[in-house]
Amino acid sequence: MKTAAVIGAGIAGIATSIRLANKGYEVHVFEANTYPGGKLSSFELNGYRFDAGPSLFTMPQLVDELFRLSGKDPKAYFDYIRLEEVCRYFWDDGVRLTAHADQQKFAQALEQTLGVPAQDVLEHLDDSALKYDVTEKLFLHRSLHKLGTYFNRDALKGYANLHRLDAFTTMNRANERRFSNPRVVQLFNRYATYNGSNPYETPATMNIIPHLEYNIGAFFPKKGMVDITDSLVKLAQDLGVTFHFGTKVTNILTEDNQVKGLQLTNNGKVEERTFDVVVSNMDVVNTFRKLLPNARQPERILRQPKSSSALIFYWGVKKQFNELELHNIFFSNDYRTEFEHLFQKKTIYSDPTVYINITSKYKPDDAPAGGENWFVMVNAPNNEGQDWDALIAQTREAIVQKLSHNLGVNLAELIECEAILDPRTIESKTSSSQGALYGNSSNNRFAAFLRHANFSRQFKNLYFVGGSVHPGGGIPLAILSAKIATAEL
Ligand code: FAD
Repeated sequence: MKTAAVIGAGIAGIATSIRLANKGYEVHVFEANTYPGGKLSSFELNGYRFDAGPSLFTMPQLVDELFRLSGKDPKAYFDYIRLEEVCRYFWDDGVRLTAHADQQKFAQALEQTLGVPAQDVLEHLDDSALKYDVTEKLFLHRSLHKLGTYFNRDALKGYANLHRLDAFTTMNRANERRFSNPRVVQLFNRYATYNGSNPYETPATMNIIPHLEYNIGAFFPKKGMVDITDSLVKLAQDLGVTFHFGTKVTNILTEDNQVKGLQLTNNGKVEERTFDVVVSNMDVVNTFRKLLPNARQPERILRQPKSSSALIFYWGVKKQFNELELHNIFFSNDYRTEFEHLFQKKTIYSDPTVYINITSKYKPDDAPAGGENWFVMVNAPNNEGQDWDALIAQTREAIVQKLSHNLGVNLAELIECEAILDPRTIESKTSSSQGALYGNSSNNRFAAFLRHANFSRQFKNLYFVGGSVHPGGGIPLAILSAKIATAEL
């Protein structure tokens, strides 16, 4: 039996292990942490449960696909609901808007609240769907680094519509062209943050992202986001995959341009094991810098600017708020300045856009009676050694003031417990280069081509998966990376 090793039990590593087990490999997953999931994990604090990282679940069919290809009924492992409300938006002057998943309802709400023609909104969503269609065929399911990708029927059809991707203008400019109300522009510009980009720089191609929420849908796993990880680990184990937690990979062993195995460190004990195939789910920058220090480093790719990171306050709040839903956004009064701070000044703006995720709205046992589990996130620059302790203290104060003003409460008095995640800890807990959430940023139109391929040209039998390589960051793309990497194994 051929043997395969996966470095890291992030969602892409787990998906890879399932695909390899289905192909008949004996699979071992080595994870530095004592728990699986990497960014997609959870923890408890004083009776409150928090999903640690991702909070928005899109494209659940990619998770279901892993169960189906293993001959299992997805519902026997993993269940989720489609959300009727995608997000509630708040502006400091009291304007509020509920974004329904139903396109007509959403367009009408924008017309009534912000005065833009509903028809313009519907056209924007249609355009988003078309962009998605072209991109999906060309970029999402295939390697960009194999000739066959460019000469198949789907690709040839896609070329006719390439101009519809709007790659030569920025997302902000395209949105300003369509909508006269700056708040509608702000609302649609926010989708750039779904892959850690800057709407004032990223190409308008990224206007594909609303398609995920308003056409395909936004979902909530009934047992919380962490159930994506837990149910897939269970599936992998049922298929015979072995997980080795608390085991750090410290070297990829190579010989004659071929991968031979791994050096592992567990509790200070160093061991070498041979494998036929190695797949790294570790951030590609650190895979090269730390595990292959003597290999040729693909500098052009490794040095690309990274996506934004995040600062998260996990708050146990001893009150329930009817005006809040699962996903809530409190917008900055100056979005452009906020992004200048994130990407040029590399700091956090004093009036940041604040996102609150409250899973206890759908899963009441995530908080004690009468309380709510708030995951409060602002975008943050990636880690370049900023004075994070000072930034955290200033930003906490700004968030508490903004939310207290919007919700008419003294929020500071309602927070009964707190944990914090910042770009430094994202980096140390998951080995993400500079604590970036999504690997390289997508702030230029060639970004898709400047992500590392899912295989190595330098070492035979070495593969790469996860949010830092093709096709990109976020749960759906990380899962797709496993499909592409294992396609020819
Ligand atoms: P990671 O989750 O980065 O895991 C990599 C794993 O490899 C880690 O467990 C790490 O410990 C392990 N590892 C690394 N090096 C070694 C080594 N040498 N030896 C052994 N193990 C090693 N995505 C969405 O789709 N929706 C969202 O709403 C969303 N929000 C986010 C919010 C936050 C705060 C964060 C942090 C991320 C968010 N994302 C979101 C992005 C999403 O979480 C990631 O793109 C995705 O989870 C990345 O998965 P991955 O498989 O690349 O690996």
